[in-house]
Amino acid sequence: MKLLCYSFCLLFALPVVAQKSTVDSSQLMKDVRTLSADKFEGRKTGSRGSRMAQFYIIDRFKEIGISAYHDTYEYPFYFQYGDKKIMGTNLYGYIPGKLSTAIVISAHYDHLGVRSSGNSTDSIYNGADDNASGVGGLLALAAYFKKHPPRYTLIFAALDGEEEGLQGAKAFVAQPPIALQQIRQNINMDMIAHNDKNELYVCGTTQFPDTKKYIDEIATGSRVQLIAGHDKPDSGMDNWTSQSDQYEFFKQKIPFLYFGVEDHPDYHKASDEYSRINYSFYYRAVQTIISVVEKMDSNMPENKFSGATTM
Ligand SMILES: [Zn+2]
Repeated sequence: MKLLCYSFCLLFALPVVAQKSTVDSSQLMKDVRTLSADKFEGRKTGSRGSRMAQFYIIDRFKEIGISAYHDTYEYPFYFQYGDKKIMGTNLYGYIPGKLSTAIVISAHYDHLGVRSSGNSTDSIYNGADDNASGVGGLLALAAYFKKHPPRYTLIFAALDGEEEGLQGAKAFVAQPPIALQQIRQNINMDMIAHNDKNELYVCGTTQFPDTKKYIDEIATGSRVQLIAGHDKPDSGMDNWTSQSDQYEFFKQKIPFLYFGVEDHPDYHKASDEYSRINYSFYYRAVQTIISVVEKMDSNMPENKFSGATTM
């Protein structure tokens, strides 16, 4: 009888386990392929291509079924860039948790737009890795946690204006959708799809050593090499702390983890196209990030971190 029950339970248990680890790979690739297509014109803040990207992300938020604060996902903001005043638009949605305290999952969707690129005829900076990949990851996380309800409230922030100096992240912390005191953690993704060595870096464990144990646990079973680093003070450009949107959270003393790859030959070039990303690495990287967030969501104590160490 025991044996029968065992086989019976196993039959039903298996599909659940399989489903738990599933990222919809074709949807993931579609999101990146779409956002980095030529017709999105490099998604420069304030451009027509940027607006198209916003419509696409909003449609995906709706499709996944994540909630909107104040009946809208759209949060416009203004910033001065040289002698121009530019309007950017952040997109926020959330999945309510058992706790009102939140983890903010962020990725910038803007890129460099259209520029003359020397001898090349290709002038569209598609930004497939930078950072359609992070947005694809953000949407995959949203879909996953919609099916596997989280303990913390998860806020999904697709940020604008990163390339103009982290403007969307600045706007987020200046006018957050919930009080900053209720934000426990930022998880930022910027360039997670292009690496030939199967290496995904996670930056922030030096500043926030409490997060290291979650990384170590997931790194052991991960199908990408998950490496903690690029966050040592005094290491100049090798310290990525201030190089993407997580910096604005860090300045507010909110613990962060930033996931990204090392620079590659297509970085900030018109050749950062969908055809250049490592599809299977990207898929595995997103699975790994989901596992980290799930582990932190389940195990991280709610008390707010106090006392960031040095940059
Ligand atoms: Zn970027």
